[in-house]
Amino acid sequence: DKVVVQDLAKLLQKTPSELITKLIQLGIMATINQEIDFDIAEIVALEFGYEVEKEDTKEEQEDILIPEDKPEDLLPRPPIVTVMGHVDHGKTSLLDAIRKTNVTAKEAGGITQHIGASEVHINGKKIVFLDTPGHEAFTSMRARGAQVTDISIIVVAADDGIMPQTIEAINHSRSANVPIIVAINKIDKPNINIDRVKQELADQGLLVEEWGGDVIAVPVSALKGENIDTLLEMVLLVAEIEELKANPNRKAVGTVIEAQLDKGRGPVATVLVQNGTLKIGDSVVVGACYGKVRAMINYMGKRLKEAGPSTPVEILGLSEVPQSGDQLIVVENDKIARSIAENRKEKLREEQMKASTKVSLDDLFKQMEKGEIKDLNIVVKGDVQGSVQAVKQSLEKLSNNEVAVKVIHAGVGAITESDVMLASASNAIIIGFNVRPVTSAQSLAQKENVDIRTYRIIYKAIEDVQAAMKGMLDPEY
Ligand code: GDP
Repeated sequence: DKVVVQDLAKLLQKTPSELITKLIQLGIMATINQEIDFDIAEIVALEFGYEVEKEDTKEEQEDILIPEDKPEDLLPRPPIVTVMGHVDHGKTSLLDAIRKTNVTAKEAGGITQHIGASEVHINGKKIVFLDTPGHEAFTSMRARGAQVTDISIIVVAADDGIMPQTIEAINHSRSANVPIIVAINKIDKPNINIDRVKQELADQGLLVEEWGGDVIAVPVSALKGENIDTLLEMVLLVAEIEELKANPNRKAVGTVIEAQLDKGRGPVATVLVQNGTLKIGDSVVVGACYGKVRAMINYMGKRLKEAGPSTPVEILGLSEVPQSGDQLIVVENDKIARSIAENRKEKLREEQMKASTKVSLDDLFKQMEKGEIKDLNIVVKGDVQGSVQAVKQSLEKLSNNEVAVKVIHAGVGAITESDVMLASASNAIIIGFNVRPVTSAQSLAQKENVDIRTYRIIYKAIEDVQAAMKGMLDPEY
């Protein structure tokens, strides 16, 4: 893997002579048209203060390197907040109540535009809210390697307390290292017990401040608009503690939070600018798409010329519709943008080819014969713990000299998207015992080429895996 000096200089935004000088300092004599090893290119990039994203394959050296900021260039930036919590605990109502407190929106006539995120201005400061509540969007972004949320507000209805999705929301925030603020909602209701909610939070390891912990819990009523100001002030407080910073004086980097094809306007994407300033006319790479920013529209429907850190903007001018979670990067010019995007597309195609060679029971034997498979990884889901354990043990006993059967995850409940993601990432098949995939998991499995098998009788599952290992499984119709 090599790169031409001239091309590397361009990528690093240095003149060829600066680069050659640096190479000489490193003891390497090179001319402008000479090829140097990628390892050396990486050292040079690091020397120039760049962060090298990935390493070692042909695609990466042709991909973009994102420069790191110097501490002195960083300025405080507004927080980006996601609202999560159990269904019906008031996530949507809370977001509505928050938008109602928005002074600037009122002054401008109060007509907010749906672009996927909105800004709230309070005490002369700004907070950005992602409009889609719930942890699904949060998790799917993370699965794609993107993290936009700085703070999560977890809504708990005071009359219902901590529920399964509350716990999921807590765990998702924790695994992403995102600080949590709890909004104890529906305090206008009679016969509620806020202390009970606090106790349940403590049981989950979230000890509230008034009990000596460090978790901020704010009692609110989304319905009556009660205490919303306090909640927002707490968000600003946590943001301050987190010391969120960005460098507005550089080329922009951001993440797509929504995108669609608009009949009149073509591909439209809402991008959250996370670092730098995005400007009209900028050449951008967005995932495997490219383009030139033709127009930017903010949450109030206002056209912007520039968008700084923590600004959600809808942008026009892309070649295609990107996916949410895709990263936006501003590059030198259209040509570079295009070649990086094409390069990435090629890589995606290769990945899809790989995806189609994923394990499935139908061609397990063929893959075993070719020596492509040493482990048969399986995710087991079932209706009761007893049968899940029984299936797990029986399956693992099937291991032989050619292939080791490994149950990488076993759990109770329907087959979900996260099971499919896990299976996809570890080249596993999924066996469901008296459970079915949820609709979204089904479609994801199709996309990711994950083999899902469901059974009602334990021995039938064992029989199928056994037969597949011998190449004697009857094809499924
Ligand atoms: P989500 O599923 O978490 O988005 O919950 P919603 O915002 O849709 O709210 C679910 C139900 O709870 C709706 O009927 C709301 O009117 C009601 N609700 C939400 N917040 C409050 C509140 O503060 N007080 C009362 N009494 N009801 C609320």
